[in-house]
Amino acid sequence: MKGLDCTKPLSLYVHVPFCSRKCDYCAFYSLPLSCVREGEISHYLDTVIKEIKAMNAEWKKPYRTLFIGGGNPGILGYEGIKRIAEAASEYGRPDESTAELNPENIDGEIEELSGSISRISVGIQSLNEKTLRRLGRNASAERSLEALRILSTSSFRWNADIITAVPGESVSEALSDIETAASFNPGHISYYCLTFEEGTPLIGREKPVGEDEETEFLIEGWRRLKELGYEHYEVSNFAKKGERCMHNSVYWNLGQYIGFGPGAEGSVGYSRVTSMRDSESLEEFLSNPELTCTPLTETETEEEFLLASLRTSDGISLEEYRKRFGRDFLSVYSERIPLLAPDTYIIDSSFRLTEKGFLTLDWIILTLAMGL
Ligand code: SF4
Repeated sequence: MKGLDCTKPLSLYVHVPFCSRKCDYCAFYSLPLSCVREGEISHYLDTVIKEIKAMNAEWKKPYRTLFIGGGNPGILGYEGIKRIAEAASEYGRPDESTAELNPENIDGEIEELSGSISRISVGIQSLNEKTLRRLGRNASAERSLEALRILSTSSFRWNADIITAVPGESVSEALSDIETAASFNPGHISYYCLTFEEGTPLIGREKPVGEDEETEFLIEGWRRLKELGYEHYEVSNFAKKGERCMHNSVYWNLGQYIGFGPGAEGSVGYSRVTSMRDSESLEEFLSNPELTCTPLTETETEEEFLLASLRTSDGISLEEYRKRFGRDFLSVYSERIPLLAPDTYIIDSSFRLTEKGFLTLDWIILTLAMGL
């Protein structure tokens, strides 16, 4: 592939565009099973595997990480997930292979995946029945607890996803979700605010919580997660020691990755890899899975670097910035940094945001990027 840098590691993302049915808040590209034609799932699997094998023939080395996300990869069954993971292991297993699963897809047979998958990310979202119904989730609170029990005694590293600031939810209910999930000892917890996306059933039916209330959900949730021993290493992600997600770190460090499946993107060298298709569509992906590579301009690369790095607690290493762009970060941004509130950032060997900075991340990035 044009632009691929063979001296750097490469990761793979596989987008599985199927769900049992659509959750009420979701704007990701995925088809509910009621809209999937017969044979389409196996056609999709064969196409993705063929594309991965074509990439293997070019790369001829193990990939750094693999992430099978969606949609709901659980729709493929353990067998389908294993086929993808095995195709991506032709030259050796990636250092980390993650599969996203919904609670209803996790059962006592989960160890079937252990030879090919090392990490599971489970979309719990909430353990409160009322909140789950508001979100239009499939699994009940009881089924979600069962999934947590199974994972807690499994051989996998694992993550629990929690959504917060749901209309009608109280801060104490959000904290109770965190505490219950943490009692099963996942190495990693993702804690996100609910976003209202255009075109979803949630819009018009519910009213988003106010900005101050949302800030309280975040501050209180972050505090409790840290008390429970999780490091706040990215705006929405928390990990016990040694349990950071390697795959997502590839995105945050502007590493190389290629996305397979409808709507999946990638990034190699200083280029963005996209499909040649006009829209996210399973049909178009099946008829033309080819990817195309568009070089980024220097300004676009720097914007992406700011966007990705400032999400992490490590921030921008001043040395790494100089190596990457051949300039001194503090000189480039000397007129923009003083516009930020002093308690939102720290400067030592890196430029990084405090939790107060995380709360105004978009504004900070905009302020810095306007200087480019
Ligand atoms: S399971 Fe995930 S991808 Fe599928 S509709 Fe629900 S939130 Fe969206």
